[in-house]
Amino acid sequence: KDALLEVKNLKKHFSLGKERLLKAVDGVSFYIKKGETFGIVGESGCGKSTAGRTIIGLYDRTEGEVLYKGENVHQMTGKDRFAFQRKMQMIFQDPYASLNPRSTVREIISEPMEVHGLYPDKKQRLERIYQLLEDVGLNRDHANRYPHEFSGGQRQRIGIARALSLDPEFIIADEPISALDVSVQAQVVNLLKNLQKRKGLTFLFIAHDLSMVKHISDRIGVMYLGNLVEQTASANLYINPLHPYTQALLSAIPIPDPDVEDRRERIILKGELPSPINPPSGCVFKTRCPMVMDACRTVKPEWQEVEEDHFVACHLYNEGIDGRPKYTQVMG
Ligand code: SF4
Ligand code: MG
Repeated sequence: KDALLEVKNLKKHFSLGKERLLKAVDGVSFYIKKGETFGIVGESGCGKSTAGRTIIGLYDRTEGEVLYKGENVHQMTGKDRFAFQRKMQMIFQDPYASLNPRSTVREIISEPMEVHGLYPDKKQRLERIYQLLEDVGLNRDHANRYPHEFSGGQRQRIGIARALSLDPEFIIADEPISALDVSVQAQVVNLLKNLQKRKGLTFLFIAHDLSMVKHISDRIGVMYLGNLVEQTASANLYINPLHPYTQALLSAIPIPDPDVEDRRERIILKGELPSPINPPSGCVFKTRCPMVMDACRTVKPEWQEVEEDHFVACHLYNEGIDGRPKYTQVMG
């Protein structure tokens, strides 16, 4: 499957003392192929940002491994680590918080290149900065201005230009459009898609709902309380969602085609995302699942591949539990 990135049973726990463990990420596995976009979707607090930060190496992992081109990210040292930091870049939800207010746009974009010793010739570096500004839909006149002089969408473009300054291969975008006006969201998504095509980038795109991710992602993982609960090709997720949580998330977004009658029932979830501190045994979704069964309360469902490249963790698709038959494909 020639994966560029492989995440294997990744766990990130934070100790809060006195045997209190915050299990932010609790055993997540997926892979991303070169040039594709993998979306991670889940409510705020589900651990998706922590997963992103652990993958890029900002956090050490508690267990499991992250392999980039087969190399263990958390065991890289010295030169290898420095080179990796150049190849993998992150775009943040709030560009304003991540841009130094006292620096000009030119300084902001220049800094990573200085750190990595790229374009040491000042004139060449300035040309490079102008080029990057154009790449993200801004222009050279913006170079000497400060972040506060820009709109939210423009600031996100500056953040993207900075991330691109090191010619990365892989970009983790952590809710890059959540803080933006709806009218601006599509523009930024289109920009990212264009840049991906032109520069051959691979994306991990983190989002809190499915509405935009489905347009940008090739494959999607649905995350709940530190766990992936379902993962498959984006198109397949919409046709054949298996996990009750995915079904609820999907029922919350309207069908865009006015000629298609929306006969789906809106699934409203009761309660809130439980605390990831000392999470309960059994299925992570048991407190809110409309389909909950006896087995769900004590036995954690296994992550299993029920059809090609379609993974789910739910007892509904487990053979033998509560007398259920093995999952058989319902579509086609
Ligand atoms: Fe619901 Fe049980 Fe499936 Fe969990 S394992 S999602 S509680 S049916
Ligand atoms: Mg977050």
